[in-house]
Amino acid sequence: MSEQLPGLHHMTAICGDAQRNVDFYVGVLGLRLVKKTVNFDDPGTYHLYYGDWQGNPGSILTFFAWAQAQRGRRGLGQVTATGLTVPEGALDYWKERLTKSGVSLGTVETRFGQSVLAFEDHDGLPLELITRPEAAMETADLWVGGPVPAQYAIRRMEGVTLTVAQREPTEKTLFALGFTLIGEEEGRLRYSAGQGESSTLADVLVSPDAPRGSLGVGIVHHVAWRTPSDETELDWRRQILEQGRSVSPVMDRDYFHSIYFHEPGGVLFEIATNPPGFTTDEPLESLGTRLCVPAWLEERRALLEQTLTPLRLPAPVVAEAP
Ligand code: ZN
Repeated sequence: MSEQLPGLHHMTAICGDAQRNVDFYVGVLGLRLVKKTVNFDDPGTYHLYYGDWQGNPGSILTFFAWAQAQRGRRGLGQVTATGLTVPEGALDYWKERLTKSGVSLGTVETRFGQSVLAFEDHDGLPLELITRPEAAMETADLWVGGPVPAQYAIRRMEGVTLTVAQREPTEKTLFALGFTLIGEEEGRLRYSAGQGESSTLADVLVSPDAPRGSLGVGIVHHVAWRTPSDETELDWRRQILEQGRSVSPVMDRDYFHSIYFHEPGGVLFEIATNPPGFTTDEPLESLGTRLCVPAWLEERRALLEQTLTPLRLPAPVVAEAP
């Protein structure tokens, strides 16, 4: 057996306009743009990565910018919410900050003892700020150049919610990936790749009558779980094949190496290696400030730079007084 998957690596969603995406995730949520690159399968479009100071696995949200695409439909076979960890007591700050930015908010709910504030980004992507007492102390990898004071800042992803038609097949796959069932509350099943820590959670909502989801703007494309090395990734690939599921070959994504497969409920899963990370092609201090392209696209860089609309980082990016 390969060792247990320690948790989330990243979530990738479809956004519309790339500049609005930067304005929201950097300017409003206070994440760091850790990589500005292109979609390797469609190099005329941006692939934007946000995260903490280093873009640690578990903190990363990525977006394919499909400016001309229609909104998708949320439903079965998708990640239908992405949770972000914030310190306990931070939600009043966030309510005010998000409201000022024109975001409409739901009411704060309590779920498994945590406070949850749900909202959508400008493209309709469902997000949740979820509190955790220990997050207050976790400041080592925060990006200090962001607009959100450290005591309120997003630490990383808390977990994802999957919506599927049947419990058993998805549960079986999660168990095979090393998750355990750690809670059940109001129809929500909670699985963890650890012991319930931040960035280890997969919640499952079983909703047989929900419509089938369709991909488009505002919809999660896939969720990636992390693994420490190329060797452990190959172990996982072998095990997934042994379970009779089809799985992609290992793909070189420059910043990690990935395999992809659909869990039986229809959600696209990826397993991504922790190394090499985002400093493989630019220094830590200046992550996200230049267009990075894979070596095989370097000869087309000039053309790509002409095709892609330049992006502005929100300015001034300085902390407001708490
Ligand atoms: Zn991915």
